[in-house]
Amino acid sequence: MSELHRIQVVPATEELFLYLADAAPSDRQVYTCPQCRDTGWLVSEEGARPCACGQQALRLRKRRLAGLKAAMDDMCFANFELNYYAADRYVQPGCTYRQAADKALRAARVFVAACGRGEAARGLYFEGALGSGKTFLAASIAGELLKRGIAARFIVVPEFLQQLRFSYQEREGSDYDEAAIMNQALDAPVLILDDLGAHNSSPWTISKIYTLLNYRLNSRLPCVITTNLKPAALAEELGQRAASRMREMCDRFILSIGEDIRSRKGSGWQNDER
Ligand SMILES: [Zn+2]
Repeated sequence: MSELHRIQVVPATEELFLYLADAAPSDRQVYTCPQCRDTGWLVSEEGARPCACGQQALRLRKRRLAGLKAAMDDMCFANFELNYYAADRYVQPGCTYRQAADKALRAARVFVAACGRGEAARGLYFEGALGSGKTFLAASIAGELLKRGIAARFIVVPEFLQQLRFSYQEREGSDYDEAAIMNQALDAPVLILDDLGAHNSSPWTISKIYTLLNYRLNSRLPCVITTNLKPAALAEELGQRAASRMREMCDRFILSIGEDIRSRKGSGWQNDER
């Protein structure tokens, strides 16, 4: 390349800097946390202190380890909307949908407070159709317990049974260790069983669920259960013995809603369906 050519293509230094400044993305675009530029530390003249994002990352990691999914991160008591529950429809005489939801919310808060005091709290059983808010309440309980340093475990029952099944099928190099999966559920200080009964029923599933409930009842370890089945249907799916354990361990609450809360909040999908 000739000397003359090179001089022509390299812009003046000043121009080059202007060009870079224009194209440089902001900290907001580059870093997850623009405050500390993802270092986890805020440095000032007084010294360095941990950035709040580190606490947030730790909090999220604990939630994932406990079984709470990213889609559940907004589920907390403060976000539980009683207004979604009809005040003019009745679960039973003298109790509107909204009053029933309020009772369930209060019981959830009382449960968390009792666990926080180290008391052997009575379990909770939330019954409701798809989208009635029962998973929302159960995930909120798990989140509040984690905040208080109580190692709650959140299990989606059909997924849990699937993992147990995998642990049999793929013994060699399997990621699923049956004893580990079962023990995490057996010994959790508080166990949340989400969507119980939303799985196929077989002597094997009946035996696994019974083992779990019976062990926890005998160990006085509380369970929070959500299901879309009425007690009679659940007893049919899981057997009378498991059903009687649930009655002994848990107080029952009914969440009723005219329609699915999730579609009411509007995801954009329902507009396409019309
Ligand atoms: Zn930060």
